[in-house]
Amino acid sequence: MTPAIELEKLGRAYGERAALADVSLTVEAGRTLVVFGPNGAGKSTLLRILATLLRPTAGTVRVLGEELPRRAWAVRGRIGLLGHEPLLYRELSARENLRYHARLHQVPEARIEELLDAVGMARRAQDPVATLSRGMVQRVAVARAVLHDPELLLLDEPRANLDPAAAELVDPLLRGRTRVVTSHDPAGGLADADIALGLRGGRPALLAAAGEVKPEQIGALYR
Ligand code: ADP
Repeated sequence: MTPAIELEKLGRAYGERAALADVSLTVEAGRTLVVFGPNGAGKSTLLRILATLLRPTAGTVRVLGEELPRRAWAVRGRIGLLGHEPLLYRELSARENLRYHARLHQVPEARIEELLDAVGMARRAQDPVATLSRGMVQRVAVARAVLHDPELLLLDEPRANLDPAAAELVDPLLRGRTRVVTSHDPAGGLADADIALGLRGGRPALLAAAGEVKPEQIGALYR
């Protein structure tokens, strides 16, 4: 089977500054890659490249068998991104946001109600996103990210702003697909992962099967 992600010496520079350098790895379909590293380590840069939002400046990237950025159009509809920005229109309601997204991806209306229910937002579905709490916005953002049933999920700290009950609620929606997840929680992140990547100053400082990594090794990335 074609790997979901293949990176070969991937790099991204902003002018003189290397945000990401020399990242080579493979993620098989159905597996979860968790990415650790302190602020500025390059985690978001990596996610944005995989999401086709940013062009690499070195190396090669294949996502779902397609080479990026050349074949970006062929993978966009097969990816779900949950970034720091919720990618929602604040003046529209949760339901309107999901309807808009559903039309882009030809998703049936019934799926919207099913997801609003699943993330516990059915009762507030008609309120403008601007009037929701941060945790509620995150729940709607999760619904938006999985609405079109993407093969690959790119998740930047998916539990951000969620209380433990809400985290448990959205968790099943984010499983059962290939995932790249950023995390600052060594034990929780490793428990969820098949492969662990630790970035430091944009470079891989750790790359191993998650089961072979100790939480202390993740902690060391931050010192
Ligand atoms: P992380 O997500 O791990 O906190 P980022 O990928 O956001 O790290 O950032 C990695 C490096 O790239 C940082 O040094 C950051 O300042 C730099 N960087 C990110 N985006 C830009 C940009 N648009 N312009 C210039 N530098 C950037």
